[in-house]
Amino acid sequence: MQHTTSTNALVDAFSNIVGREHVLVEGEAHEDFKDPYWKEDSQKFQPLFVVQPANVEEVQETVRLANELEVHIWPSSAGRNYGYGGSAPLVSNSIVINLRRMNNVLEINEEDGFALVEPGVTFFKLFTELREYEIDLMMSVPDIGWGSVVGNSSQHGYGYTLNGEHAEAIVGLEVVLPTGELLRTGHGAKSNSPMWQRHKRAFGPAIDDLFKQSNFGIITKMGVKLEPSPEKMTVGLVWYDGDDLEPFLTKIKSLVQNDIIQGVPVLFDSPRASDVDKPIQELFHRAEAGNLRHATRWALRVSIYGPGEVVEVKEKLLREAFADLELITIDLSTYDGDISPEQVDDVEHLVPVGMPTMLLLDQARATFGEDMGHIEFAPRVQFDADEYLTVAAKIQDKAHSNGLFVDILTGLHKKSIVMFGMIYFDRGNEEQIKTAHRIVHELVNEVGELGYTEYRGHLSIMNDVAKGFDFNDHALHKFYTTIKDAIDPKGILSPGNHGVWPSNFED
Ligand SMILES: Cc1cc2nc3c(=O)[nH]c(=O)nc-3n(C[C@H](O)[C@H](O)[C@H](O)COP(=O)(O)OP(=O)(O)OC[C@H]3O[C@@H](n4cnc5c(N)ncnc54)[C@H](O)[C@@H]3O)c2cc1C
Repeated sequence: MQHTTSTNALVDAFSNIVGREHVLVEGEAHEDFKDPYWKEDSQKFQPLFVVQPANVEEVQETVRLANELEVHIWPSSAGRNYGYGGSAPLVSNSIVINLRRMNNVLEINEEDGFALVEPGVTFFKLFTELREYEIDLMMSVPDIGWGSVVGNSSQHGYGYTLNGEHAEAIVGLEVVLPTGELLRTGHGAKSNSPMWQRHKRAFGPAIDDLFKQSNFGIITKMGVKLEPSPEKMTVGLVWYDGDDLEPFLTKIKSLVQNDIIQGVPVLFDSPRASDVDKPIQELFHRAEAGNLRHATRWALRVSIYGPGEVVEVKEKLLREAFADLELITIDLSTYDGDISPEQVDDVEHLVPVGMPTMLLLDQARATFGEDMGHIEFAPRVQFDADEYLTVAAKIQDKAHSNGLFVDILTGLHKKSIVMFGMIYFDRGNEEQIKTAHRIVHELVNEVGELGYTEYRGHLSIMNDVAKGFDFNDHALHKFYTTIKDAIDPKGILSPGNHGVWPSNFED
């Protein structure tokens, strides 16, 4: 697709909708919407400029204009998708439609436990509103809180309290389609329905999932489930310094499956510095000093929520479960459900009690310097020690043999686990960036051979991951293409996002 309009003329055209001051063409504001961890001088993944609409009507007009002028657009909400490409588009010179200005919490319903938010609402903002209006609901937050509820949840992101699988906590969407038409999902499609945020499915096919990790629409409103604040919360770490993961993981699986520990517990894998080659050892010591690694071989972040008596019994069951394992230390704290962030006695407890923080990013920057960058390799695998160790070894060997430090944190579900492999590099060092991306490409294929695939990935690997879905001659991706062809044949909206392209795509 050939733009016939000059950049200046495009800026003018979009300024007519949102105002010139809300079109960011260069300078710091524009820099904020590139991939923060990508090569400085690369032509890939570069936004042409950034347009920031103020409301749904402006989003619709922006989309219609993009169709008219045949320019690619790429939406972002807070635009903090660090580790996966930030706010950057896959196809360079796309215009980023950033929704930070649409940052209203439109409704919070305490009785039925939900909120309706605009895309620019960050985890910090939702938390602040819950506290400001003394609403007795607990939310789930990712490890860093400056991202948006919409951006994070629509990317299948994770928090760690109840409802920590954020994509599952979505109840009802409002979406601007690639034509500019406005659609609401589920009960929201019935104009007078009080049910939009109260029940996901309505009548006929449920299509909410089609707008997650996709390029079928721009989400302009999202319902999100919230839980009643528990009377008590017990959170903390179970440290295990044994080398054999199997007995530890078997016990953890039983605790997760029986709801003794709740939310999304996280397993931290800290190989010993002596197990890696000399050049990497220094990185390991640094990571340990900076609290990016734990001092024991394994650590498990746990949470229990509920009435005081129930929490007490579950804590007892947790302690009993590990009683016959040596080299275990259990370090837990119990808080009231309405505690304030200042009353939390360990900053590491903020996330499991549902309070947004920037701790992990601060720790990573303090450890590896302000020029720290990272890319995720994040496969979902079976909840099984052998499977975990096979995949973890591939990730660790690949990173370490290429001179890079990787930190694997694993979120635990009842029937599966998701391994967040954070591969760190120096973003001032082009060779290291290239190496980190190459490693992830290789891992997609190698771990793919075991039948596993990433739950989410950087722009640079989306096509490779998508190609792995090969059943019946890639029938699933053919179906996505059929939808894309029907609703956006020129690929105006986010072409290539998660490997979905129209069949006759022209850049
Ligand atoms: C140290 C560190 C720790 C992290 N920990 C976590 C963690 O615990 N859990 C986790 O999930 N992530 C984590 N991340 C990754 C990331 O920071 C978060 O997921 C963040 O919330 C995503 O940014 P965002 O919400 O601003 O999304 P955005 O950048 O706004 O959006 C991301 C992508 O989603 C799509 N999108 C966004 N908005 C819309 C819309 N309105 N309509 C349609 N598509 C849209 C676009 O493709 C966009 O590029 C971490 C990152 C770092 C650096």
